[in-house]
Amino acid sequence: MAAESTSGRFGAGEVVTVLKRMLAENGREYVGYYALAVVCLLAFAATTAFTAYIMRDIVDLLFTEKRYDLIWIISGSIVVAFTIRGLATYGQAVLLAKIGNNLVARYQRRIVDQLMRLGVDFYTTTRSGQLAARINENVTGIRDILSMTLTAIARDAVSLIALLGVMVYQDPVLSVVALVIGPPILISVNYLMRRLRRATREAVEVNSRLVGAMQEATQGITIVKAFTMEQQLSDKIGILIDFAEARANRIARISERMTPVTEILAGLAIAGVIAYAGYRSAVAQESPGAVMSFITALLLAYEPAKRLARVQANLERALVNARMIYEILDIEPQQGDRPGAGDLKVGKGEVAFRDVEFAYAEGSPVLLGVSFKARAGKTTAIVGSSGAGKSTIVALLQRFYDPSAGVIEIDGQDIAGVTKQSLRRSIAYVSQQPYLFEGTIRDNIRYGRPEASDAEVDEAARLAQAAEFIAAQPHGWNTMVGENGVTLSGGQRQRLSIARAILRDAPILLLDEATSALDNESEAKVQRALDTVMQGRTTLVIAHRLSTVVNADHIIVLESGRLVEEGTHRSLLAKPGGAYARFHFMQDRADEAAEVVAEKPRRRRTGGVR
Ligand code: ADP
Repeated sequence: MAAESTSGRFGAGEVVTVLKRMLAENGREYVGYYALAVVCLLAFAATTAFTAYIMRDIVDLLFTEKRYDLIWIISGSIVVAFTIRGLATYGQAVLLAKIGNNLVARYQRRIVDQLMRLGVDFYTTTRSGQLAARINENVTGIRDILSMTLTAIARDAVSLIALLGVMVYQDPVLSVVALVIGPPILISVNYLMRRLRRATREAVEVNSRLVGAMQEATQGITIVKAFTMEQQLSDKIGILIDFAEARANRIARISERMTPVTEILAGLAIAGVIAYAGYRSAVAQESPGAVMSFITALLLAYEPAKRLARVQANLERALVNARMIYEILDIEPQQGDRPGAGDLKVGKGEVAFRDVEFAYAEGSPVLLGVSFKARAGKTTAIVGSSGAGKSTIVALLQRFYDPSAGVIEIDGQDIAGVTKQSLRRSIAYVSQQPYLFEGTIRDNIRYGRPEASDAEVDEAARLAQAAEFIAAQPHGWNTMVGENGVTLSGGQRQRLSIARAILRDAPILLLDEATSALDNESEAKVQRALDTVMQGRTTLVIAHRLSTVVNADHIIVLESGRLVEEGTHRSLLAKPGGAYARFHFMQDRADEAAEVVAEKPRRRRTGGVR
């Protein structure tokens, strides 16, 4: 498993590196809060130490010397100490929680920014379900554990030091007796930590796979049902669940293993101290106050010490989480803008590919010496069988990837030399699968051009033949769509995404035609909407419908990454035995008779076959 190989690199040096980095990136923001928290913690520790220290006076002055005049002072100081302690506990808990929550918010914001910055290549190699689960688990992991750990480390460490101070002050010799248990505890804790680290990383990975698998299964539920995959998927996910359960149990076993070890060692230490102190007070007739104070401090120190030992386990987990977050934050987007890249200046929007070659990372070439021109304001259809490289052409034009050789130009400017922002602003894209985002219908169209006025959005919807069905929705324009919204039909979704493209008002339109068949009425509406958006724009369309191809101004035919033919429907058909003629013949046969019938009036409307 991948976890095995990566966990090995997570050495002690790296623990420090990750911690340092977290501090360097976030520390400065919180100096004020930390300072306040430290004041609270010092007050907490001081009052705890005071309760141990005062035992000596209680025993020696009140019980041995019977100084009843001091009762009020001593009792009063105890009330004051506990009051301060309570307030200080409250203060530090609130402050540290605030720091922890803010830290999570900061990491979440950074991750969102980074996810938006990363290129398409990142998402083709990462499963989105797993990614979401992993981010979620790691960020909340950082918060829960960090705030817990910060509280424990800060409060317990300071208390422990103060109590040790009382112990040493009251009886240095006994302190040495008590502290011999330190080294064995440290050694065993260290050993367990190493094993815990690996188990934790495995657990985080398996959990994100599990949540990701569940998400994918539910998202694809129609396919799952259609192929009766329920049992298979249940079984597969069941294996992950078993694995996650086993990991969680293992983590519990390892981290709890510390408890018996520390309990036994602590018992030995306390027994040793009491035996030695008892012996000394019997033989040397020492005042019992110092010993009482010492033992109180020792007993009070036991809890924070135990928590501190456990804290390392929690801290380890937080560091695993932090590191996994950093793995995402540290990915550099593959292709950035060239230094000094200017904005694309689009006139008419003529697109030219010149000897373009391309291969996906470490794959075989997908495009080979592709050259063609998509004339400004005209429609160029890209045809070819599945896997020929049609989508790749569209992806390259948007600079989701950069070609390995050759040049892509828009109005004579090499797109590799302009900013991606300006390039993509001049392109509207209608994908095969219309994607709607969480939000209202109006929001979804407005993504095309955020600064558009309501009237412009309305107009775009009207042109996209969407106004009617939008008005019929329960809340009209404000109907929620996306994951938790109303369900729209395939055709309606397509028209919304076309409205988005119309609103964008970009000179270049990229269109990946839907392959899934719509009912005739829907189809006709979508086609009308498309005709509107294509008007006067340089359109590159990955054509799946015969009508689109026939009506296109220019057709390029791809075969295994090569441009084998180009021309108009007429000129290409006139080449018997040519690739297009073959393709067209096959397409013709495959098309449903109904579609061909529906086709005819449209052909007439647009002036017949060109
Ligand atoms: P088409 O759109 O004509 O069906 P594509 O452009 O999608 O073809 O794909 C061309 C080739 O590139 C195919 O062999 C496909 O397997 C490969 N391919 C497409 N996308 C990727 C990717 N993200 N990573 C690796 N190979 C890819």
